[in-house]
Amino acid sequence: MTLPRVKTRSHAAAPSESARRSVHVVTFGCQMNKYDSLLVEGRFVTSGYDLTDRMEDADVILFNTCSVRDHAEERVYSWVGALRKAKEERPDLVIGVMGCMAQRAEEEIFQRATHVDLVCGTRQLQNLPSLVDEVFERRRCAQDPTAIEGVLGTDMEGRVRVDRRGEPYAGGLVGHLAVMRGCDLNCTYCVVPTTRGRVQSHPIDDLLIEARWMVDGGARVVSLLGQTVNSYGEDLPKPAPCEPRFSGRQGRASLADLLRRLQDVEGLERIRLITLHPSYVTQALAEAIRDCDKLDRFLPLPAQSGSDEQLKRMKRGYTTDLYRARVDLLRAEVPDIELGSDWIVGFPGETDDDFEASLAFLHEIEFVQNYVFQYSPRPGTRAHGYADDVALAVKKERNQRLLAASERTALRRHERFIGADVDVFVESESPKHPGRLRGRSRHNIPVSFDGPAALIGATAQVRVGEASAYGLTGVRCSED
Ligand code: SF4
Repeated sequence: MTLPRVKTRSHAAAPSESARRSVHVVTFGCQMNKYDSLLVEGRFVTSGYDLTDRMEDADVILFNTCSVRDHAEERVYSWVGALRKAKEERPDLVIGVMGCMAQRAEEEIFQRATHVDLVCGTRQLQNLPSLVDEVFERRRCAQDPTAIEGVLGTDMEGRVRVDRRGEPYAGGLVGHLAVMRGCDLNCTYCVVPTTRGRVQSHPIDDLLIEARWMVDGGARVVSLLGQTVNSYGEDLPKPAPCEPRFSGRQGRASLADLLRRLQDVEGLERIRLITLHPSYVTQALAEAIRDCDKLDRFLPLPAQSGSDEQLKRMKRGYTTDLYRARVDLLRAEVPDIELGSDWIVGFPGETDDDFEASLAFLHEIEFVQNYVFQYSPRPGTRAHGYADDVALAVKKERNQRLLAASERTALRRHERFIGADVDVFVESESPKHPGRLRGRSRHNIPVSFDGPAALIGATAQVRVGEASAYGLTGVRCSED
C-alpha cells in the first residue's frame, strides 16, 4: 500500500482569505464511488473551488470510502493517519471522509482520527461544498481552536440529484451514470442497505439529460449504475390515468424503457449495465436488450452461490431454479448473451457440498467473468451474528478453485470468437506495447490489436486470431 505523502507547504504559498481553495479527492471502492467523486468534484467547481491532482497542493482533501469489507476501511484509516503530521504543520488543511464508510461509522471516525474535520454520508454528497464551508466558518468563529467540533452530514433523507450541465464533463470515453441509489433488498452479508439506504430511482428525463451532457462532453460509452440496476423504476410514482404507461410494474418506468430511450441518444455508441439482480429480470427487459443494439451483449448477474441452502441463508430471494429460468428467458431473446457473476466463498455454514454446487453452477451457466470474494463479516449486517465457521484456509482454497474454473469457462467462451470479426470499441493504447490498442467487444471481452492511436474512441473491426481466458487478440480488418 502506498500512503499519501503530503509536504508542508511554505507559508508564502498558503491561500489568502480571498484565494480560491483547491480540493483533492481520493477514491476507493466501486464504480458508484468513482461516479460520486466526479459528481462531488463538479459540485466544488460550481461552488468556486479549484480541483488539484496533487494532494500536497490541496486545501481540502476528501476520501471517498468503501465499507464492503473491513480491510477497505482500515486502508482509509491508514491514509487518513498518514496526514496527521501534515495537519499539525498546516492546521488550515481540511480533511474529510465521505461515502459508505462515513455513513456506517459516522462519529466513530472523529474518535479514531481526531484530525478529521468532516464526515459526509452517501445521501449528502451534493452538499459537500456547504459542509466544507461550515468547517471554515466554525474555525473562523472559534474562541478555542482546539475545541472545534467536526462537521457531520449523514442524514439519509437527502436525494443525491443534481443538474450537472453547468460543469465540464470529466468522465472520459467510458462514462458512468447512476440511474438509482440504494437497495431495497436485505442480503444478509451486505452493508449497502445500511450505507446507501433505500432505493431512489432518478426520473428517465433527468437521466437522458445527464447522458446527453456526458456524450456532448466526449463520452461514447455509458455504464448505467445501480446496486440492482434492473429494479430501476420500482420506486417511481405510478403514472396518472392520463399519462403514458411504461413497461414496469403498474405502468411505472423500468430499465427496459430507459434502455429504449438511451438507444436514441445520438453519439452514444454503447451502453453497459452494472449490476443486475436475477429477481428483476423480466420479459420486457429481455426484449429491450434484444432490440437495443447499443447495449453490450454482456450482463453482470451475480449468482453468489450455486447452493439453494446458502442462497436462503444469504437471503438472496431466489433459488437456482429461478435463476436458471431467468437465464432461459434472457437467452431465448438474446441467444449469444454472455453472463458474469460474483461469488461468495466461505459464507457461514458453507459445506463442501454447497461449494461443489457453486462450481457446478458456474460450469452449467458458463459464466464468462467471475469475481470471487472470501466472506468476511461486516458490522451492521444480519450475517454478522452468524458463526464465521469456515476456516480461512478453506476459504482461500475454494477461492482458488472457483477462479481456476472461471478461467476454463472464460477460455471456452472466448474461443468461439476465433476467426470471427468483432466490433471493438477502442478505449486506450497499451501502456506496455506502443502501437497496440485495447478495447472491448460487444460481449465486453477485452480485445487487443495493432492500430493507430487515432482509433481511440471509435469502433474498429478486428478479426480474432487468438483467445485466452483474459481476452482476445487479432488484426484490424481494414485500414479504412
Ligand atoms: S441486492 Fe443484496 S448484495 Fe446487492 S446491494 Fe442489495 S442487499 Fe447488497
